[in-house]
Amino acid sequence: MKSSTTINSATQNEMGLKTGGAAQMNLVATQAAEKKLMVQTYDRHAVMFQSGEGVRLRDVEGNDYLDLLSGIGVSALGYAHPAITRTIAEQSAKLLHTSNLFFHEGTANLAMKLTEITGMDRVFFCNSGTEAWEAALKLARSHSDLLRSEGKSIGTRIIALEHSFHGRTMGSVATTHKAKYREPFEPVMPGVVFVPLNDVEALRAAFSSEICAICVEPLQGEGGIHGLSQEFFATARELCDSTGALLMADEIQSGMGRTGTWCAYQHYGIQPDVTTLAKPLAGGLPMGAMLCTEEASRALTPGMHGTTFGGGPLACAVALTVIDTIEREKLLTHVVETGAYFAQKLNDLAKKHDCITDVRGMGLMLGIELNSADLARQIVKTLLENRVLINRTSETVLRFLPPYILTRADVDEGMAALDAALIQFTPAYAETGHLAGEHGNGD
Ligand code: PLP
Repeated sequence: MKSSTTINSATQNEMGLKTGGAAQMNLVATQAAEKKLMVQTYDRHAVMFQSGEGVRLRDVEGNDYLDLLSGIGVSALGYAHPAITRTIAEQSAKLLHTSNLFFHEGTANLAMKLTEITGMDRVFFCNSGTEAWEAALKLARSHSDLLRSEGKSIGTRIIALEHSFHGRTMGSVATTHKAKYREPFEPVMPGVVFVPLNDVEALRAAFSSEICAICVEPLQGEGGIHGLSQEFFATARELCDSTGALLMADEIQSGMGRTGTWCAYQHYGIQPDVTTLAKPLAGGLPMGAMLCTEEASRALTPGMHGTTFGGGPLACAVALTVIDTIEREKLLTHVVETGAYFAQKLNDLAKKHDCITDVRGMGLMLGIELNSADLARQIVKTLLENRVLINRTSETVLRFLPPYILTRADVDEGMAALDAALIQFTPAYAETGHLAGEHGNGD
């Protein structure tokens, strides 16, 4: 009988996976194997990494890359940070998993730290961003159910924002604006209405006692590095307060110090009822957390929600080390300072290159808008060829989410590469060898 899960020898040879008895997965062989074996959900760049140190990644050919993306906002402490490798070694030698049927020492310690830095009261641990957001959505619905049982008039509908991104599971994707991510899976969770970002009147018009939650990213990442206006955020807070609906801030990309405060909402002085963390939380290990107020937490009781792996000993130990390291190495201040320097350099480039139409962001969550999607694609490709990693989001936006340990010298190196790439694709330069507005020798 043929096993459907085993690759036979002929197939292995055909894909180049077998060399002299040992499996040597070089890039070409891996590409071929993935093409045949994996569900084609990713369009990867043709680079294979084998290790990393600090802000640099090394590919299988031994080339080093300056990482200005940190695995889409994950590797905040860079690669092979000694504190993280030590914690992983020590904790994995002690205990990896207990299930949520028993206690271990990590959960309460981490919950203590996370509630302290976010201003929230309680935590639910899970394994990814979308799971954290899913927990927030379930909390919103069960909280409204609780309020109804207490005699309040509140519905089940949810307000989310245009260009939002909250993840790929059925609930999260229902609150994610981009049609391409959502429509092929319809019917997704019903009852979601999208409001244009920072349109206060539209928010007021969409809000009623039918709404159980308003969902925001204080600084939209996937949507192109767009921040909430103070007025819009404050209006969302005021509307939620008027009915008991929950204000839910997704900080999966913007949280854990990325913008120079633990959560981006802290820049606004507005405290949401629910927030979600993930990406850098456990330094590269999968972990998510949904945090909420005491009031909201009443709506989830034993058995209503859970996960096998959430809040496991290894992830908790590493997350505690991440927070401790950010505090000990004063990385929030460093993010503010290096972020300001980085933004200044981007603004300098914007003055030089007409194709940059905007510079946006906070801390080390930055983006520049280009005047063409094709150009943005070319720039990402050229930087990769020159061994600098960034990505493109929202078609025309170049996004920078570097490790927090980035130095000014790293910024200078990255910006020199970006400048060179922009020059290369400037039509005037290609034709004449000069940039528009560029003058020689002081005239
Ligand atoms: N929410 C935001 C704001 C995100 O940026 C992301 C991922 O990019 C998610 C949710 C989903 O997180 P994950 O990919 O870990 O499920």
